[in-house]
Amino acid sequence: MSTDGTILAQKIRKSFGPKTVLKDINLEIASGEICCIIGPSGSGKSTVLRCINGLETVDSGVLKVNGEDFGYYETEHAYHAVSPKRLAAQRTRVGMVFQQFNLFPNMTAHENIMSGPVLVKHADKQVAGKEAHQLLTSVGLSGFGDYYPAQLSGGQQQRVAIARSLAMDPLIMLFDEPTSALDPEKVGEVLAVMRDLAKKGMTMVVVTHEMGFAREVADSLIFMDDGYIVERGDAREVLSNPKEPRTQSFLEKVL
Ligand code: ADP
Ligand code: MG
Repeated sequence: MSTDGTILAQKIRKSFGPKTVLKDINLEIASGEICCIIGPSGSGKSTVLRCINGLETVDSGVLKVNGEDFGYYETEHAYHAVSPKRLAAQRTRVGMVFQQFNLFPNMTAHENIMSGPVLVKHADKQVAGKEAHQLLTSVGLSGFGDYYPAQLSGGQQQRVAIARSLAMDPLIMLFDEPTSALDPEKVGEVLAVMRDLAKKGMTMVVVTHEMGFAREVADSLIFMDDGYIVERGDAREVLSNPKEPRTQSFLEKVL
């Protein structure tokens, strides 16, 4: 498998039943790029992320993740699914963090972080345990390894969720409104971990309402509405000088 941290989507379409949710999505994300996606509820932001990590399959278009056809490949007349085994391998290189943390409630923080390497990659438990310990430290939670999710604050749970994703050694990290479920005073600690990750050169696609984070950390910004990418450009440029009327009116409401 190539290891390059890029994402390429060309003319992606995706429908659920009669409803077309992604209409003509084109994007190109470079290795190490931090791309924020903003837009109203229902515009298709989560669906874009879910396609990029293989939780959804697209109906048509080209999707290349880490430099290779992702989940399916196209011949002259048809789409063909890649084998489940290959898709599973592809998916390990794309981490995803959700609004609702999605930790395993019956596992400690430490066990949550080890679970992917041990269960999916059949990693040596001792090695995985050591890495889990380092990851906990890197998200500021050394000493919390034996805590269960219910014993942790939302901000702590989300940092464990980030560590758990990182344990799989992804080349790309996707974040779907990672701070939206948090109490305001917990938002900063999660954004700080994400900022660290950005500095390390991780490719990141972040759906967020945190315009401060977007302005400070993002390289590029995408505004989506109604299944389309309406505007895309340099993050600070789009935020201070949006060209499209729909972007302007959205930003007027949220800034
Ligand atoms: P956003 O994240 O921007 O709020 P989503 O990508 O979650 O938007 O959803 C886009 C549209 O697709 C919404 O109208 C939503 O109701 C619909 N949708 C998303 N997932 C499904 C699904 N699994 N089945 C049917 N409709 C869905
Ligand atoms: Mg969403």
